[in-house]
Amino acid sequence: MRQTDTAAWSGILVYIECRQGNVHPVVRELLAEAWRLAGKLGEDVYGVAVGRGLEAVPGQLAGCPLAKLWLYETEDEYNPLHYEKIMEECIEEVRPSVVLIGGTQEGRALAPRLAVAFESGLTADCTSLDIEEDGCLVQIRPAFGGNVMASIVTRHTRPQFATVRQGIMEASCGMPAKAPEILRKCVPPADDSFRILEVEKKEVPGGITDAKLLVVAGRGVKKKEDLEMLEELAELLGGRLASSRALVEKGWMPPQCQIGLSGSTVSPEYMITCGVSGTVQFMAGMRHTKNIVAVNTDPDARIFEIAHYPVCGDLYEIVPEMIKRLKAGKGDELVEIHI
Ligand SMILES: Cc1cc2nc3c(=O)[nH]c(=O)nc-3n(C[C@H](O)[C@H](O)[C@H](O)COP(=O)(O)OP(=O)(O)OC[C@H]3O[C@@H](n4cnc5c(N)ncnc54)[C@H](O)[C@@H]3O)c2cc1C
Repeated sequence: MRQTDTAAWSGILVYIECRQGNVHPVVRELLAEAWRLAGKLGEDVYGVAVGRGLEAVPGQLAGCPLAKLWLYETEDEYNPLHYEKIMEECIEEVRPSVVLIGGTQEGRALAPRLAVAFESGLTADCTSLDIEEDGCLVQIRPAFGGNVMASIVTRHTRPQFATVRQGIMEASCGMPAKAPEILRKCVPPADDSFRILEVEKKEVPGGITDAKLLVVAGRGVKKKEDLEMLEELAELLGGRLASSRALVEKGWMPPQCQIGLSGSTVSPEYMITCGVSGTVQFMAGMRHTKNIVAVNTDPDARIFEIAHYPVCGDLYEIVPEMIKRLKAGKGDELVEIHI
């Protein structure tokens, strides 16, 4: 199904991921980004939702700049083979130049299947997007272990597929609201070679993605027991403890507490990093944090380039001092800028 007539494809189609009719938060971020990109070319943004209980979906997308919204009501919740078939049909009808999909578990299963079906390019986990005048999507993401930021372009085939994780793009509120034309579609029959028998909801204890404040432990922490001190700081501030991948690899922190490219994307109000250097992979997961306090002994650490409160010093001196002041009710004297 290779499509090489690039001029015959236009607009951006956003996959409106939803579960039981609830739209996933990544969708608004994708729509805001799609609107910014489509605006550069004067093209339209479209949406497609697949699943059960879609009646409430248009209402949840109020305030979004959608020209058309396709709704495919199914009997089952996410089924990769069936959803792929539906999306293929939708893409054939819409003929969008670009398809944006959330970098969620569902999106990560769907996007590669579609890219293979259309024999076109997919860039997973983009950290930034742009578009050229001829409609080529510039998909930017770290590559080669984070040593380069690669700009990837699919020049000769359409559509161009990209996934973006939640929290990477801003869900801008300045989008012009449009009441989309709603197209309710018949669903092609499911292929019963694959059936989901049971869906079990897994509770993730102490999730970091919705925390307002995060204390983040990095390799600068010398012993596993020292994490207790950072846990105490997080508790005193009403936040949670997270970490860089370095401590997950050591087995000191669970994978669900890892921030970064291969961990979670977070955008808390406050973050205190302790002994984190600020590699490109770590920063890919926390770029939209509003206030960053970074504690590091190295004045040249990259984390200081984005920190709002750079504290150049030893975490083993600074963290106990913070705890002491918080316990003494002197939290407002907490941050002294040492750099
Ligand atoms: C494909 C790929 C995906 C990856 N995904 C991720 C990811 O999702 N998340 C992630 O974090 N990493 C990820 N990484 C790993 C990443 O490259 C780094 O190895 C990791 O981010 C380093 O973590 P760190 O900053 O804690 O450690 P380091 O880079 O070793 O930094 C430790 C810092 O602690 C400071 N320090 C030392 N002692 C003290 C002290 N006493 N007080 C204060 N500061 C001190 C040092 O100056 C140093 O800056 C990935 C790598 C690859 C190749």
